[in-house]
Amino acid sequence: MTPTKIEHIGIAVENLDEAIKYWENVMGLKCYNIEEVADQKVKTAFFRIGEVKIELLEATSEESTIAKFIEKKGAGVHHVAFKVEDTDQALKDAEAKEVRLIDKQARRGAEDLQIGFLHPKSTLGVLTELCCEKK
Ligand code: ZN
Repeated sequence: MTPTKIEHIGIAVENLDEAIKYWENVMGLKCYNIEEVADQKVKTAFFRIGEVKIELLEATSEESTIAKFIEKKGAGVHHVAFKVEDTDQALKDAEAKEVRLIDKQARRGAEDLQIGFLHPKSTLGVLTELCCEKK
């Protein structure tokens, strides 16, 4: 796997509306998409900064991994998403190098991307998302 760019940075927030206000009023960026991803129990908001996006994530249920993350570590940077050619192939490549996977197979994420996560225990503490556009 060779990522071609950082696609987005995921930030866990406690309150999406307040977080959007910060990013719009202080950072001066415009939220261009709000989307709920039901199977991940999150609501997301997106901003563009040049080629990179910021993805704000609010839990919609206490079972959400975002809720658990905030409970343990507080709000803040949650994951870094790298764009790859093919998410399934990149997951296989990582597994072949003994990286622990959270997702064995790509699944649908926000913005219709095919996403898969590597476990932070295998990635020096950085929850790593691999993503590509849907084929
Ligand atoms: Zn993400």
